[in-house]
Amino acid sequence: MSAGLRPPPLPHPSVLTQPFWDATAREELLLQRCEACGAYVFYPRHNCTACGARALEWVKAGGTGTVFTYTVARRPTHPGFADRVPYVIAVVELDEGPRMTTNLVDCSPEDVSIGMRVEVVFGPLEDGLRLPYFRPAA
Ligand SMILES: [Zn+2]
Repeated sequence: MSAGLRPPPLPHPSVLTQPFWDATAREELLLQRCEACGAYVFYPRHNCTACGARALEWVKAGGTGTVFTYTVARRPTHPGFADRVPYVIAVVELDEGPRMTTNLVDCSPEDVSIGMRVEVVFGPLEDGLRLPYFRPAA
């Protein structure tokens, strides 16, 4: 088997992250929000990163943000991504505040810039899972 035929890695939902993956399967982006101080938290955790409270609730995010930083992968970062190069790996700062590592889609690497407005889209994976990606905002 050539390296290019290896499947891409898949998420492994846990008890903690299952609500996030259930939502992406419905094409919804969820974040945790602290019931004590109101801070938004991502990635999923047991405690608020701002105040330490364990009172985190799941809320629907707006799905929009800005490109905080990015890089262009011209060699695959995993053998399962060999057919995707070049692709953009970005950190998107959501309008709620948390930053999410993702891929930018529906735009060429040359058109990406820091600060550009982006919106979430959902790409299908195996097992009914969907991954959140971002594209230039309409
Ligand atoms: Zn808090």
